Amino acid sequence: MRNRTLTWDNLRKKGFFGPSRCPMCLVEEETINHLFNSCDWANQIWNWIEGILRDSNRDRGSIQNTILNWQSNFSNNQRVNGIWKTTPGFLLWTIWKERNRRIFQDEFRNVEHSKETILTNIQQLVQTKCKMDPNEKLSDRDLLILKRFQLEANHSITSLRHQQQPNSEVNR
Ligand SMILES: [Zn+2]
Repeated sequence: MRNRTLTWDNLRKKGFFGPSRCPMCLVEEETINHLFNSCDWANQIWNWIEGILRDSNRDRGSIQNTILNWQSNFSNNQRVNGIWKTTPGFLLWTIWKERNRRIFQDEFRNVEHSKETILTNIQQLVQTKCKMDPNEKLSDRDLLILKRFQLEANHSITSLRHQQQPNSEVNR
């Protein structure tokens, strides 16, 4: 993500003194980091994806660092890796599209709609671009990630382990 994206703070640097309020929260000034990282609206989406992936190495003060840190999260499984690699791009793109919809079309969609869009886009991309290894051995974490994206998983090994070590979440 380059800082050259067209947002009001950049336009003002060029002498344009237009509206600068964030179209998502209608409270804070719209900067790159605010829009994509620290706005409550963006936060809801990041928190949601962090919950699914169980990690993110996110830098709440810098969207650029978040993207740079992201690669340390990759998995050994090709499809889970596909999810990791495509998540930041789809996330930023979805926020950007909703932001533009609000500014230019005066249309508002809720955060659940954006989450659904991100989930579907990643799911379709992984389904078409990443091959499933029939002998794949998935970690528990990878298995949960694939399930959340409704992607098929060869989980015979993992499900056996689950039966032997029932976790508290299942029993609650
Ligand atoms: Zn905001």
